[in-house]
Amino acid sequence: MIPYGRQEITESDIEAVVEVLRSDLITQGPVVPQFEKAVAGYCGARRTVAVNSGTSALHLACRVLDIGPGDTVWTSPITFVASANCARYCGADVDFVDIDPATFNLCPKRLAEKLEKAERAGKLPKAVIPVHFAGLPCDLAAIQELAEHYGFAIIEDASHAIGARYRDEPVGNCRYSDITVFSFHPVKIITSAEGGMAVTNRADLAERMERLRSHGITRSSELMTKVPDGPWYYQQIELGYNYRMTELQAALGVSQLQRLDTYVCQRHNVAGFYDTALSGQPLTVQHHPEDTYSAYHLYVIRVSAQDHRSIFEFLRTSGIGVNLHYIPVHLQPDYQRFGFREGDYPAAESYYSEAITLPLFPSMNDEDKQGVVHAVKEAMTT
Ligand SMILES: *Cc1c(COP(=O)(O)O)cnc(C)c1O
Repeated sequence: MIPYGRQEITESDIEAVVEVLRSDLITQGPVVPQFEKAVAGYCGARRTVAVNSGTSALHLACRVLDIGPGDTVWTSPITFVASANCARYCGADVDFVDIDPATFNLCPKRLAEKLEKAERAGKLPKAVIPVHFAGLPCDLAAIQELAEHYGFAIIEDASHAIGARYRDEPVGNCRYSDITVFSFHPVKIITSAEGGMAVTNRADLAERMERLRSHGITRSSELMTKVPDGPWYYQQIELGYNYRMTELQAALGVSQLQRLDTYVCQRHNVAGFYDTALSGQPLTVQHHPEDTYSAYHLYVIRVSAQDHRSIFEFLRTSGIGVNLHYIPVHLQPDYQRFGFREGDYPAAESYYSEAITLPLFPSMNDEDKQGVVHAVKEAMTT
């Protein structure tokens, strides 16, 4: 079975991790700050906070934007559940904005309409979490313009999109957002096994995320409620977590980051091959606006809803590890409890009835790619 995604681990990745294993510190050492600095440099952002998963980074982002009970956070229904769950961890409500049927990203027009209504009802969101689906940057300028008008925060869920570019600048520079979040899960663009990072230009948010990743504990006397009892002293000044990234993960991340641009380029090559080889087939692919450069985390085709299931099954039977990203979040039982129903987000639901993710990873060889194309063409005609 050709998987839909697969990490690539080189000898130098292995050496980097082994080097940490032989050192004194396997957690809370120098390599996590090194990884943070490297990602900040890559993205052109001031501050980065490494954590143990993308989900943790989303949670911390919500916490430091003071999202809590009574607040609402909006995101896309076509995403991994973590993009929505992060708000619920903070006691906030979640609502969704339908996707653009062409880009599969949160639609700025639907967002504008929903904001107009929400303003009249006095229920504006505290934050919106646009997701750069499949690695394709959202229309960030349009979303930011609405944020300025209606006064909500923006957290970019860039779990798919490290290495992507928007208007000739790297995703993660936070020009259009308060915080950007990356995931380094093995299926993503680069990996640290598990891991994530929150990126921001605001020092106050970064400092608070650093504290929350380690139990909400501070050793800075100026933040304490009293003069320290002694040199051993620390204070917990708010409720935090253990969301720390290990040195082993960071070493893998630093090593992988060096190949980020190569990986994205290889992903574009595979996508380009599919584009050409599948043109003329009865299917559609994601529309890439001119001011975007995708990280190509995923290559999704949309086929007729009527044949969707049989094509999917045919591909799986043919050894092609196709997948479906994603089941609309509002259709999950744990979201239906809040009253979301089928029909709420027609573009997302129609996408779900047609979408198939084809295998896409940097080390795919010609045989893999041709095998996928051959099977897709065959599936279309049977
Ligand atoms: C992978 C992913 C996450 C969560 O990342 P983890 O590192 O697995 O916690 C969040 N949002 C999206 C869109 C993702 O694809």
